[in-house]
Amino acid sequence: MGKTQKKNSKGRLDRYYYLAKEKGYRARSSFKIIQINEKFGHFLEKSKVVIDLCAAPGSWCQVASNLCPVNSLIIGVDIVPMRPMPNVITFQSDITTEDCRSRLRGYMKTWKADTVLHDGAPNVGLGWVQDAFTQSHLTLQALKLAAENLVVGGTFITKVFRSKDYNKLIWVFQQLFEKVEATKPPASRNVSAEIFVVCKGFKAPKKLDSRLLDPKEVFEELPDGPQNMEAKVYNPEKKTRKREGYAEGDYLLYHDKPIMEFVKSDDPITMLGELNKFTVDDSDHEWKIIKKLKQTTPEFLICIEDLKVLGKKDFKMILRWRKAARELLGIDEEEKRDEVEVATLTEEEQIQKELQEMQEKQRLNEKREKRRKNEMKQKELTRMQMNMLTPMDIGVESAELGRESLFNLKTAEKTGILNKLAKGKRRMIFSEHELAEDNDVHIDDDAPLTDRDPLAEADELESQLDAMYQNYKEQKSERDAKFRAKQARGGDNEEEWLGISDKESDSDGEAEKDHISEDESDAADSDDDEAINKLIAKIKGQSGDTKLSSKARALFSDSIFEGVEPDFSSSASEKQLSVDKTDSKTSENAAKESIDDDSEMEVDSEESDFEIVANEAEDDDVDSDYDSDEERRQTQKAKYAEDIDIATVEAMTLAHQLALGQKTKHDLVDEGFNRYAFRDSDQLPEWFIEDEKKHSKINKPITKEAAMAIKEKLKALNARPIKKVAEAKARKKMRAVARIEKLKKKAGLINDDSDKSEKDKADEIAKLMKKVTKKQKQKPKVTVVVATGKNRGLAGRPKGVKGKYKMVDGVSKNEQRALKRIAKKHHKKKH
Ligand code: SAM
Repeated sequence: MGKTQKKNSKGRLDRYYYLAKEKGYRARSSFKIIQINEKFGHFLEKSKVVIDLCAAPGSWCQVASNLCPVNSLIIGVDIVPMRPMPNVITFQSDITTEDCRSRLRGYMKTWKADTVLHDGAPNVGLGWVQDAFTQSHLTLQALKLAAENLVVGGTFITKVFRSKDYNKLIWVFQQLFEKVEATKPPASRNVSAEIFVVCKGFKAPKKLDSRLLDPKEVFEELPDGPQNMEAKVYNPEKKTRKREGYAEGDYLLYHDKPIMEFVKSDDPITMLGELNKFTVDDSDHEWKIIKKLKQTTPEFLICIEDLKVLGKKDFKMILRWRKAARELLGIDEEEKRDEVEVATLTEEEQIQKELQEMQEKQRLNEKREKRRKNEMKQKELTRMQMNMLTPMDIGVESAELGRESLFNLKTAEKTGILNKLAKGKRRMIFSEHELAEDNDVHIDDDAPLTDRDPLAEADELESQLDAMYQNYKEQKSERDAKFRAKQARGGDNEEEWLGISDKESDSDGEAEKDHISEDESDAADSDDDEAINKLIAKIKGQSGDTKLSSKARALFSDSIFEGVEPDFSSSASEKQLSVDKTDSKTSENAAKESIDDDSEMEVDSEESDFEIVANEAEDDDVDSDYDSDEERRQTQKAKYAEDIDIATVEAMTLAHQLALGQKTKHDLVDEGFNRYAFRDSDQLPEWFIEDEKKHSKINKPITKEAAMAIKEKLKALNARPIKKVAEAKARKKMRAVARIEKLKKKAGLINDDSDKSEKDKADEIAKLMKKVTKKQKQKPKVTVVVATGKNRGLAGRPKGVKGKYKMVDGVSKNEQRALKRIAKKHHKKKH
């Protein structure tokens, strides 16, 4: 790793680093003493003699040299050599030694120091053995030198580290100085444990108690509790000397244990912290196994030889090795098995625990939900305060409400209800209880399959049709017999009947005749003229008085209708023949669809059956009925689905019906088979097919509820953009208010400044105002100057022209004008 990188990684290259470089200081720590000096009464400026203990590389000496009065004596000492610097005496020595003491005395001669500085930090990098000189000891040594050299009232500045010795040191300082204060200058990193103690007013006692400066006396230890081995292992660099004395019966400083004990131990960290070495027994069976591990590297074997010299990385490596060894020997698994056994023994407790966990989880979820809601409320409140809320929100909310209250297909899909729904087994918005009560709609899930087997239903329908057809055939033969008898009596209307056999197929004509006869025979059978009246009234009423189809005309021209006046007031027969209009729209539609389908079948089919014949007679009438019904439906649709897409409303209606169980999957499949489904489009032109598509579709019903639901959704959607605009405007407004507030504050400050004249204040405030109300800079106007006449060949600014200008010749001016004209024209054309 490069030096710079290392520095970077520790974040060393901070502003003090660059500042020190800029000012020519040898280290960034120069700012620490500068800041301390500023904070504590500029003592350096008053110091004529300064001793800097542990001075390398010398930045504090540099600061002292800059700040102290000219010709001051500045002495710097350090255990490492220092580059010489002007006005500073430097020498290399260990401050804890007699050598340093005597040399210092040599340089000081008869003078006394006004200030003694100490920024020493033990060089732990030299080895563990040297760790004996801890910071606290060094500080005490520095104090000793300070006490020997300081003048009465002198200042001692020292670095101490936050440790258990800290208070003891402070106590010692307080014995020798009037005022002792601890400080952490801004230049000192927060991560660093260093603190600076400023001791002012040296008391210079005539007789100094030697115990005061004796480390043994000052740092005398009381027995501690258990040691923090984790700290020892994970922070080996911070190792402190063992001051607790010996453990009972253990008078050795050196401890070792077999490596297998370490592998099997429950407290590996303590072992790593306490022991000096792990021994290896090559004959041990288990060691033979784990020795084959890839983690058992030569490096590992060296490391376990001397645990006291290891660093964090090495300890981690050993711990990783232990984990692998335990895995290989299956120690952890055994423990787990034991745990499982314990768990089976206390199954109830386990359940209880799980329950508690679940409850806790639920509680947390609820809490989260509550918090989310609160946040939403808070947001809403802020919006309200900002006038961001618009009435359109109501739409959004109602749409949300609608979604919940109606149904949610997604939820239905997830819960599996949708499938049942599709089969018509459930109505979604009703409760189970309601479902059970409602026998009409409810289909019992547990009912035998045959009850709702579609095939069985089809069989049943078919047999019903057979029976009806049989009935029809019987009636027909009876009617034929009557007809023949009538003919034999010399029927009057033979000619007219011939008239029916125009372009239409024989079968059709026959069918029509059949139908008339059928109705006639019915009427005759019941001997009820009123019924015939009603029948005619119905047919006439539905087809419209003026528009009778050819088939209808043929029907009414029959002799049997002679002298019969239609009764338009009656509605009973209408109810009989038409689809029951009081039915729900869905059933109405289904009925109409079936009529439509049947009519279609009539066209396709050559061989008419019962239903075909019956509808054939009414064909036009039914169509006309359909037309009016269709119109009604269209009007209704237009009314409900004003401004909204009909297809969407239809889809929503269908969804409602599905959800309510009014429609089933079966119905949907059935609806797929309609008269438009199998149209032969071969050899038809594309445009025709396209055009047909628009009309050839089944008219699906819509409901008011579906239309309303879609409308609500649209309302919410439409409200959104407007809301966004309102919000943006509010934000802009808020920003403007904030700007003005800021301006007010600044203006207030300017106004309060008594040093400024009123004019200056006014000018400054005006300047501020200008800044706030500053509009977008407009492009400076460019004056075009034609280089003709007096301006021809002019070098420099033409006379009388201010600001930006551009010299052009006559031609280019004309060109520009032309271009402008063209652009204007284009613009006009566009609009
Ligand atoms: N104040 C110095 C400056 O601004 O340039 C930086 C001092 S540096 C943080 C700590 C110094 O203490 C190191 O240069 C180190 O060599 C020195 N030191 C540590 N133990 C020492 C000892 N026993 N005697 C003398 N100097 C020592």
